[in-house]
Amino acid sequence: MSGVNTALKEIAASELNAIINKIAAAGVVGAGGGGFPTAFKLKTKTPIRTVIINGAECEPLLKVDQELMARYPEELLATLATLVQATGAETGVITLKEKYREAHAVLAGEIRNYPGLRLHLLPDVYPMGDEHLLTYNVTGQTIPPGGLPLQAGAVVLNVETLYNIHHALAGRPVTHKYVTVTGAVRQPVTARLPVGTPVRELLNLAGGPIENEYLLIAGGPCMGKVTSFNAPVTKTTKGIIVLPLDHPLADRYRRDLNRELKIALKACCQCMQCSDFCPRHLLGHPLEPHRVMRAVTCGLADITLPQALLCSECGLCDFYACPFSLSPRQVNRKIKAELQQKGFRPGPWQATTPSPFREGRQVPTKRLIDRLGLKEYAARPVTFIEDSITVNRVHLPLRQGAGVAPRPVVRVGDRVEKGSLLARIDDDTLGSGLHASISGTIITLNSEIIIEGGGD
Ligand code: SF4
Ligand code: SF4
Repeated sequence: MSGVNTALKEIAASELNAIINKIAAAGVVGAGGGGFPTAFKLKTKTPIRTVIINGAECEPLLKVDQELMARYPEELLATLATLVQATGAETGVITLKEKYREAHAVLAGEIRNYPGLRLHLLPDVYPMGDEHLLTYNVTGQTIPPGGLPLQAGAVVLNVETLYNIHHALAGRPVTHKYVTVTGAVRQPVTARLPVGTPVRELLNLAGGPIENEYLLIAGGPCMGKVTSFNAPVTKTTKGIIVLPLDHPLADRYRRDLNRELKIALKACCQCMQCSDFCPRHLLGHPLEPHRVMRAVTCGLADITLPQALLCSECGLCDFYACPFSLSPRQVNRKIKAELQQKGFRPGPWQATTPSPFREGRQVPTKRLIDRLGLKEYAARPVTFIEDSITVNRVHLPLRQGAGVAPRPVVRVGDRVEKGSLLARIDDDTLGSGLHASISGTIITLNSEIIIEGGGD
């Protein structure tokens, strides 16, 4: 019997290697925003017990994963079943919020055909998509602070990443991205469009901004970054939020970081609200943002500061908890950058026990939306546009995820077809390859590749 088991393991291992090679060849990275090369997530000697699909889509206003789950249940479930079998995992779990009724209904209907898979419904609280929180919710096991889901026997993949794996297994590389465009636009949309499409094209698709002066946020309202009219959509862009310039959230995004830090350090009264609501702290991680604030205020380069490395930058402390709208997140971000620049490596943290107060302190997304002043935008219907728009020029940054930039295999003047390889990554180097998202001619090649012409 053990001979049979060994043979089965060998078959599964060779199948997994073939799958990993296809995923790497297609340039798949975490589409939820992380951008970690997916092949590397699966290339592990640590046994995987659970493959978790992250359909929490916890940032308010975004509607990409909900749409994909509702529209492509068969593709997603079949691909998950393939991954579960190839990795030798015990189960595959699609997580989604209870409120995604349409997606839940179609997935619940289809999943009966997949005995090894199950759905896991999540409450509508923010944040929820953080791998630490999601893994704990699904497995009941905490990941050690600073650690990876694999330490709890899990691999976590975003819904759109799974959908890209579905295409990768059929030999189709990542050329397109689903993005929600919402906020102060005429018609909010979730659209599929070529990677490299400028943000201005997305705004046109949404009927244009309804304000003359506005701020553009790439990502979600809590963890997004200010972007510009001409910036390209990348493999990790999940949303574009248009905020009137006088919106309170736009004001938060425009604050000068250094001034913000000075105010924060003077005004902090050590009320501890930031720590009381910090989701990582509530999971038992040794992160207490009020202590970090105190250490910085008092100029203490003490043992508290490395705690900042555990911050997920979810923003709950500044957008929700702090009575003075101070930003422990910004303070943590600055300390993190300094520690990382110095090559600081914290010692291993131990697995933790969640706080008994965790349940009662989770923040309902609805309440957060009210606090952020986004109620009006959250109530608007979002049109789904599946047909890819025609774009005449795309800007493709070489590096579109974690790791090093891939090496170009094309030259200026080359004619490329949609899906052809533009830049490759060497085997075993952390990074991801890049493919042409439209057919056309390469007109620029430096840290980005610009393709002109051809359409889609
Ligand atoms: S941003 Fe604030 S609330 Fe979120 S993990 Fe960091 S310290 Fe905690
Ligand atoms: S919630 Fe605000 S005031 Fe209170 S400890 Fe945290 S940063 Fe300071």
